[in-house]
Amino acid sequence: MEALAASVRPPGLAVILAGADPASAIYVRNKIKACKDLGIKSEHLTPPSDVTTVELLASIIKLNARSDIDGILVQMPLPAQVDSKAALLAVDPSKDVDGFHPFNVGSLVTGRPGPRSCTPAGIMELLRRYEIPVAGRRAVVVGRSDIVGKPMAFLLLHENATVTICHSKTPDLAAVCREADILVAAIGRPAMINAAHIRKGATVIDVGMNRIADRSEAERVFRGAREKLEAFDRNGSVLVGDVDPIAMADLASAYTPVPGGVGPLTIAMLMVNTIRSAERRLGAC
Ligand code: NDP
Repeated sequence: MEALAASVRPPGLAVILAGADPASAIYVRNKIKACKDLGIKSEHLTPPSDVTTVELLASIIKLNARSDIDGILVQMPLPAQVDSKAALLAVDPSKDVDGFHPFNVGSLVTGRPGPRSCTPAGIMELLRRYEIPVAGRRAVVVGRSDIVGKPMAFLLLHENATVTICHSKTPDLAAVCREADILVAAIGRPAMINAAHIRKGATVIDVGMNRIADRSEAERVFRGAREKLEAFDRNGSVLVGDVDPIAMADLASAYTPVPGGVGPLTIAMLMVNTIRSAERRLGAC
């Protein structure tokens, strides 16, 4: 960071937000705010909802060529008519601060240096900071997406956990989850992981971000948690993870709450990836 501070320019991050997905707009706003707080120059491109793949690729190619841009983030999901895979492939791997480009996925799988997917990288940082041992422990990851489940499993594996990946076709999910010392839920199903899935004393990482707009569902999830139900009544909805928050608090030895657990770390790791990219590109490391 010292070398960076003395350099001729701040790190630069370009964020492309195509279309009008409200959740994406909030994520992008938070990312841009974090850039401002840290002195990272951010640029926000907002192509319209009917942008074509060719137009989007042209914007990415221009950003690839710019020397003041160290990181390019294409916010997912893209509008349906855009070829998302082509967009991710178009980002110069050296500016891929999300770690989604196949080149960087290959680096992850083979244990070579490179940007790591931000949410799993944040979770590893959290485990390190809280001194939760990983080597030799049983880790179960529920979810096998390219952005969370798979990279999470590889990062845990590289730290010598014994890793099981579960998905929607896994029989007797609860029994597999109960084997976990470290249980990571990245599913997208509100409070699906419950007391039957959590072994007493496990570390539970809840990646899920689900908005509940049905009060009876909120009552089921937050039974007796007055504060949460009052928040629901004020806002008409409430955020819940993939893990039943009451069961998690009762059974886990350590857990990440939703909101405020994994989410902020994802943004922090995006900033780390951007700064590292700038350092590499400026020859500071
Ligand atoms: P995806 O929809 O891409 O993947 C979900 C995974 O969960 C799939 O692998 C799916 O299995 C599995 N799954 C679905 N239903 C079940 C089930 N009943 N039993 C077992 N497995 C199941 O989601 P993401 O990985 O993108 O995101 C997961 C969650 O994490 C979401 O709530 C998302 O909002 C949140 N998220 C939070 C972030 C943060 O910063 N906190 C960042 C990114 C995501 P299959 O492959 O068989 O379909």
